Amino acid sequence: MKLSELGEEALIKRLAEQGFIAKSGSGLIVGIGDDAAVLPGPDGMYTLVTTDMLTERIDYLPEWITPYELGWKCVAVSISDIAAMGGLPTWTFPSIGLKPDTEVESVDELYRGMAECARRFGSEIAGGDTNSVKGDDTFSITQLGQVEPDKIMLRSGAKIGDRILVTGHLGDSRSGLELLLKYGTEEARRKFAHLVESHVIPMPRVQEARAAVGTGAVHAMMDLSDGLGADLPKLCKASGVGAVIYADKLPISDELRRAADMLDMDATQLAASGGEDFELLMAVDPAAVDSVILACGSTTEIGEIVDGVIQMSLSDGTRQSLTSGWEHFAQ
Ligand SMILES: [Mg+2]
Repeated sequence: MKLSELGEEALIKRLAEQGFIAKSGSGLIVGIGDDAAVLPGPDGMYTLVTTDMLTERIDYLPEWITPYELGWKCVAVSISDIAAMGGLPTWTFPSIGLKPDTEVESVDELYRGMAECARRFGSEIAGGDTNSVKGDDTFSITQLGQVEPDKIMLRSGAKIGDRILVTGHLGDSRSGLELLLKYGTEEARRKFAHLVESHVIPMPRVQEARAAVGTGAVHAMMDLSDGLGADLPKLCKASGVGAVIYADKLPISDELRRAADMLDMDATQLAASGGEDFELLMAVDPAAVDSVILACGSTTEIGEIVDGVIQMSLSDGTRQSLTSGWEHFAQ
């Protein structure tokens, strides 16, 4: 069977079933299946570990993104996973594979982006590896973080009746990508600077996650990397629940609506299925929705955790299945 037929989720399950990956317990507090692994840490804290890979032509095209932005994005996507666990980033380890004819100055820019992103969120590059590649450039970031045991946020804690909240806007990053595809980098950046920026310099929600967790009212949390339609089912599966999302409550920016018109795409669809938003998805105690919104800032209630399947409710009251987002290995 080919990887493209199996898919990423089934691949991970297959490897786990063969006993290649440690299970939670016996030293590993939380293993695979959440945004980061959780290990016992110093001074009674938990240590968080996550790793993320970006590959040229799969995750980005070099003509669309500067080396600085690429460095920033590589680190931001890993820091977002630490935020999703309720933690604070601590140390960053980039492993990079570059073509031998890469200009040294562009490697400086790449590392400037990585270092600035790490420092912006309290982390620091502490090591890593460099290698040469014959094909496409590859970047793998291992990000460490820490969290107090009573503040850790897992995907598995959602309860029926919880409200579903997301930070920021959804679909901006995906529309930025679509604009780059359609118009090329110069025109896309001139017409829709914010949307392209959302795609190339994502801002992980570290402070918002800490503020949300501080309310004590968040039962489950993850970050949106593959799109709401792909990520919400992961949270629901981990918690053994279903969900209803209200299409007309999805936080859609005015700029996304304008872009959707120009792209001849549906703004709601972009918001529901677009990947790389790196916003937080939370299941929140229904009595404390307002306090979480107040603590986090720009945050929107978009649905409810239910006993049953995952559906999107449209403005006419009909319900449909939530469109899935990004699937690795799909062709
Ligand atoms: Mg994640």
